[in-house]
Amino acid sequence: MLLMTLRQDPAEAEIPSHKLLLRAGYIRRIGSGIYAYLPLMWRVLQKISQIVREEMNATGALECLLPQLQPAQLWQESGRWDTYTKAEGIMFALRDRQERDLGLGPTHEEVITTIAKKTINSYRQLPVHLYQIQTKFRDEIRPRFGLMRGREFIMKDGYSFHSDEESLKETYRQMDRAYRQILGRCGLAFRAVEADSGAIGGAGSQEFMILADAGEDEILYTSDGKYAANVEKAVSRPPVVEASPFTSYDKKETPGTETISKLCQILNCSPTVIVKNVLYEAMYDNGKKVLVVVSIRGDRDVNEVKLQNELVKLAGRYQAKTVLALKVPSAKELQEWTTQPLPLGYIAPNLPKDYLRSPQFLSLADTTVVGLTNFITGSNELGDHVVGANWGAQFQLPELTVDVQKAKAGDRALHDTSQILQSARGIEVGHIFQLGTKYSQVMGATYTNEEGEEVPLVMGCYGLGVSRLAQAAVEQSYDKDGIIWPVAIAPYHVIIVIPNISDAKQVEAAEKLYHDFKVAGVDTLLDDRPERAGVKFKDADLIGIPYRVVTGRSLKSGQVEVVERATKKSHAIPLDEVVSTLKQWL
Ligand code: ATP
Ligand code: MG
Repeated sequence: MLLMTLRQDPAEAEIPSHKLLLRAGYIRRIGSGIYAYLPLMWRVLQKISQIVREEMNATGALECLLPQLQPAQLWQESGRWDTYTKAEGIMFALRDRQERDLGLGPTHEEVITTIAKKTINSYRQLPVHLYQIQTKFRDEIRPRFGLMRGREFIMKDGYSFHSDEESLKETYRQMDRAYRQILGRCGLAFRAVEADSGAIGGAGSQEFMILADAGEDEILYTSDGKYAANVEKAVSRPPVVEASPFTSYDKKETPGTETISKLCQILNCSPTVIVKNVLYEAMYDNGKKVLVVVSIRGDRDVNEVKLQNELVKLAGRYQAKTVLALKVPSAKELQEWTTQPLPLGYIAPNLPKDYLRSPQFLSLADTTVVGLTNFITGSNELGDHVVGANWGAQFQLPELTVDVQKAKAGDRALHDTSQILQSARGIEVGHIFQLGTKYSQVMGATYTNEEGEEVPLVMGCYGLGVSRLAQAAVEQSYDKDGIIWPVAIAPYHVIIVIPNISDAKQVEAAEKLYHDFKVAGVDTLLDDRPERAGVKFKDADLIGIPYRVVTGRSLKSGQVEVVERATKKSHAIPLDEVVSTLKQWL
């Protein structure tokens, strides 16, 4: 056995699961976002993969293995080569000896659509669903937390093909059930949430979140169980607007009020009657940059995912297809846009035309500001705000109204305003999509339908992060002594510890048990190292095997000690009943 445990927390790790997997000898870092899965980890990953495989096969999906080296030409056909290899693109790209461009697969829509194009001709072959369990490569901007966000990681990805939306929806529902089964069998507490389908579009998507405080994602949900969404996607009814204390239009000196809370203090008003104007810079895929001002209620924040989706919808205006990057520009970057420094913190909904160097300027109103009256907002002059303002009087309501406000805990739910949104943190382990014809259309993957017409295939895709799931399980289940694996995905079920290897009776009993467990199909580890008993117990706790069997003093009365890892409960069990008892518990 290759067992190398560390007593100290490694400096490179921040969150508990990452520390524990390193300390317990499951993984080793080879480079940024690059990890070796050592033998213990590989057993866990194979157990998870097997559960995934069984549940996928049960739905009729077919396992295959697709190439990781993907010709650029496929990605040029789908129109994703540039977005995936330039700017913030995450595909590793390379050039072969014949000067041809290739990418290392971050995902496989292009490859699978090409296969469908070559193999599916008729509606009679549909539906069909192919999946694989394989290493993916992504040059993540911020690889971190060990296996949670790696640059090389294991994913189950599946792609289904259909003759119509109805058939797609059926498979989508089936995948929803399969994912719930998989996570349930892995022993995890999770929540399925509505998700942003972003640039991919399509009719809908759902994410599966493992609940854990260290999760990168925020989930908003209601306690009636009827609503759960990723905060990126969540909708809500914001708090009721309080009346404005100002009934006539006026300009007020408000020095030092760059933040909403300071402004509320000085003017003695509620943030719900303030129109806040936030600047963004969007970069489209053709290189065009647009300066955006979003007017939103003072107590609300902009949801940048929603904003980006809105800007993608407007891409046609700028002869572009999609948005490559969206950010809050720095004061320095703003200089490119304006003829004089902008009065940051005092910006009005409309910027004076003579400020702007470039015509690529867009002003958007969030739905929260549309109904406001006698509101307070910036004056475009440093140090002054205006009060008692109204749309159609002092300010023009921006031509486009969008919903880009960020829902937050405490807001009322849309489906039932007596339900209040609550917040939880989660780790996204799965994402299922209804893709529609996005890829089949552009790549020409068509089939002949019952009426004899040639039409594009309707597609769905379903991802599950196998290596991320393994670490998420640890994040959800550990204590001060180490990992507590759920039985179904533990590398071994039982660890037999011989406290004193110079005691022949202890060794003999342990070896017999080891043999009997093996015959009974229980995954068992035998710790016969020449170490002190205390060291072995500590290691057993750290690596997190569900049951520890100790062939110690109780052998004298024909018993062994069995300790449950999760509860630390200890049982004395007669030697000849150990295997059958544990089989039952497992
Ligand atoms: P994220 O928002 O976390 O970057 P994603 O939306 O890029 O995820 P998908 O492309 O839908 O993820 O991939 C499917 C699954 O693969 C995810 O749900 C996640 O479990 C896993 N996954 C994605 N990126 C990584 C990564 N860098 N390291 C480990 N697992 C990952
Ligand atoms: Mg990602």
